[in-house]
Amino acid sequence: MRWLGAAAVLHGQSFRNVVLIKLQMPDAVWVDGRPGWQRQGRRIVRGASGIRIVASARDVDRAAGPVQGHGVATVWDVSQTDGGAMPPIGTLADLRPDDVYAALARVALDAGYRVQRRPLPDEPNGAMTDRRRRRVFVSDELDGAVAAMRLAHELAHLRMHKLSRDSGCHGLARLEAESVAYTTLARFGALPAHQMASAAGTIGRNPPVRLVETLGGRVAATAGRLIGATERHLPTPQVLPGKVRTEPLPLDTEDREFDRGL
Ligand SMILES: [Zn+2]
Repeated sequence: MRWLGAAAVLHGQSFRNVVLIKLQMPDAVWVDGRPGWQRQGRRIVRGASGIRIVASARDVDRAAGPVQGHGVATVWDVSQTDGGAMPPIGTLADLRPDDVYAALARVALDAGYRVQRRPLPDEPNGAMTDRRRRRVFVSDELDGAVAAMRLAHELAHLRMHKLSRDSGCHGLARLEAESVAYTTLARFGALPAHQMASAAGTIGRNPPVRLVETLGGRVAATAGRLIGATERHLPTPQVLPGKVRTEPLPLDTEDREFDRGL
């Protein structure tokens, strides 16, 4: 959950780099390289030591050299820069849960799914998706933040998993959907008080590194797209840092990496 919270703040970063940034600077909220800060009209404070991350070849920091086929790049947190008033930071943009819910419902509609409130007495999750009729149902007994969390969970399933009628919501699929929902709601400062259904037991106390990396990568990528799609439907344009992904949220697509990796 600490990592998911960090991923919400450091929106747009890979799983690996969220881990690296939080290890080196736990309070980092918005990082960028030197050219990125220059474009923002800010400069790096003299003597500030940068944060080392894994970079694509074009961002490689020559002095640090290659690491396992990737390169090392140096970034700095906004707190290590100056150049006038600080821009507004990430999750401080607290939104009304009802607005987040409405925006998520628009994201569903963009993908061809109507969202409806109705009694769901037999549904312990408080929400369910009827893929055949292209409907997402959310229990009418849930309040704003919890309803938004349940809806985000269903949208994560639609993006990530092909659930047949009885395969249901459990195991890794449940953990992934809940993690994406948590990250998305955390991004908008709209987490419910009782936040996350415990699904972490699925992977045990000491899971293999490959499993953690695969799960983390999938959650970071899906949450990034869901956050980007949701932001476009929020009532007031939010000025949030991070690389906002702008491509539409593709639903009903199988993720080959998931099939291979797990
Ligand atoms: Zn589920």
